[in-house]
Amino acid sequence: MVHTNTPKVRASRKFSLELLISDHPLDCMTCEATGNCLLQDLAYEYSVTGDRFEGTKHHYSVNDPNPFIQVDRNKCILCRRCVRACRDVNGVEAISVFYRGFSAYIGFGADSHMADSPCEFCGSCVEVCPTAALWPKISMGKGRPWQVEKIQTTCPYCGVGCQLILEVKDNEIIKVDSAWDGPSNHGWTCVKGRFGWDYVHHADRLTKPKVRRYLVDGGQPKPAAANRHSEVAGDPWEWVETDWDTALDITARKLRHHRDESGPNSIGVLTSAKCLNEENYLMNKFARQAIGTNSIDHCARL
Ligand code: SF4
Ligand code: SF4
Ligand code: SF4
Repeated sequence: MVHTNTPKVRASRKFSLELLISDHPLDCMTCEATGNCLLQDLAYEYSVTGDRFEGTKHHYSVNDPNPFIQVDRNKCILCRRCVRACRDVNGVEAISVFYRGFSAYIGFGADSHMADSPCEFCGSCVEVCPTAALWPKISMGKGRPWQVEKIQTTCPYCGVGCQLILEVKDNEIIKVDSAWDGPSNHGWTCVKGRFGWDYVHHADRLTKPKVRRYLVDGGQPKPAAANRHSEVAGDPWEWVETDWDTALDITARKLRHHRDESGPNSIGVLTSAKCLNEENYLMNKFARQAIGTNSIDHCARL
């Protein structure tokens, strides 16, 4: 039988923690990981205050110039979780430990910046890092764990259907983690799913349908294409916002017109891997039965 919680084991564990903490910034007050940090939790559990050992501390610069991941080696405890996640979860081996002993640190590729290494910015290393040594830049300063609501959802980007956990504060997504129980991703996700969600709150995002001005007001004849890219207010080619009922009515009218004038095979339908299976099934029914064409395909084949 192996005993993992005897007084002797706990004393040894506390000693290891004291050594780790002796070379740690201890700036939990402003650290991104506060409230979500295994080192902090263990220090609390074992009453490690950080004043037992004095000695040299590392002062690494925090300057990896990639757009996604903050790399703060000062907060690294060399647990190598990131190394294993990169190798075993993402299958890339972009990250490893360089040198040994007190000189050891995590590095990328042939000891370069992340962007110059084979890194694909999947963020698996960030997901498993127990401290703030690796942290999403886009989430920095946005909120504490106890201020967020966690919502599990399906990534909207492709048909793999990765399960993501959104951290939402004040109705704004501030961080995305991947779900370990996601049947198609098992804790992994790609760079888009992990870091590509700022579009949700982007000022340029379309939230209402837009149609050409000449299509509203009962549908005027299509004007000449000379000024097709015109953004002049009042121009028949100008994009104007409308409501969904109007946009769908216009779409139905145009589809009916082309089907009646040129036959159903003049219309092709492209569906999307970003839609649900059920929605793609409905598009198949719509193409074959409502329009009467077999010209239907899916973006995953393009
Ligand atoms: S990584 Fe953890 S222990 Fe270190 S400063 Fe941040 S919260 Fe504190
Ligand atoms: S982001 Fe992904 S590919 Fe890059 S080092 Fe981390 S685990 Fe490896
Ligand atoms: S997972 Fe974090 S703490 Fe552990 S070795 Fe990697 S960067 Fe350091």
